[in-house]
Amino acid sequence: MSVRELVVLGTASQVPTRHRNHNGYLLRWDGEGILFDPGEGTQRQMLRAGVAAHDLNRICVTHFHGDHSLGLAGVIQRVNLDRVPHEITAHYPRSGQRFYDRLRHATAYRETVALTEAPVDADGPLAVTPSYTLEARRLSHPVESYGYRLTEPDGRRMLPERLAAHGIQGPDVGRIQRDGALGGVPLEAVSEVRRGQRFAFVMDTRLCPGVHALAEGCDLLVIESTFLDEDEALAEEHGHLTAGQAARVARDAGVRHLVLTHFSQRYGDPEEFERQARAAGFEAELTVAHDLQRVPVPKRR
Ligand SMILES: [Zn+2]
Repeated sequence: MSVRELVVLGTASQVPTRHRNHNGYLLRWDGEGILFDPGEGTQRQMLRAGVAAHDLNRICVTHFHGDHSLGLAGVIQRVNLDRVPHEITAHYPRSGQRFYDRLRHATAYRETVALTEAPVDADGPLAVTPSYTLEARRLSHPVESYGYRLTEPDGRRMLPERLAAHGIQGPDVGRIQRDGALGGVPLEAVSEVRRGQRFAFVMDTRLCPGVHALAEGCDLLVIESTFLDEDEALAEEHGHLTAGQAARVARDAGVRHLVLTHFSQRYGDPEEFERQARAAGFEAELTVAHDLQRVPVPKRR
């Protein structure tokens, strides 16, 4: 059984607090690990969360503010120290190439890993694998910022009672799946569409078309809610979202599990984010993230 889950490494915006590390999130998706926005301290948070350097296949950075990228220096050196045997691909805004270069070469170390640079400079697909398509969407923040989305291809779910009604059994089930038809019976007659799962990572941004496009129909949405609703003017000014704004996006997009994170240090009570998200009309599963939490991608419907 393949594992699809989010491992929360850190949840603080701007500066870490006593209870929250800078941002950092690992998505386990089948055999792959995708690290999003490694802020300062990510290397140690990985250790605490049971994430090894070998678990990383891809790194996605939304933008080059420190709470989303300072951890690159440590993580990159660690994968090299541990001699990770597979290729690792890094995505980040091309406009921040100079920041990426500095973080990658922040100090001296021995390079042992094939680290591929795949910068982003437009909306669209970045990678296609058998289990997902990764795409980027431009967000709205004072520095160029991109959100990321994984979409699993749709598959087909075989329907045992329909197979039985057509007398299809044993190796013939594999044949009709492979060939699309068997003895005049089309595959569609004995199966139904199994919708691919969808995940998105949205951070940092004010409301803009990219936010909605990334969130659309997500099984699991990780989205920043830096501010509470009473500070909406501040959020707009600094290019962030409030709890209520994030929740309304998720509600309108039909998100099944909403993860709020990237909290400003100005607030003490995380439950207020939940109250405001509920007040905004989001009724599905909701997590106000805390460090080292694991959030499974919801089971298929
Ligand atoms: Zn941030």
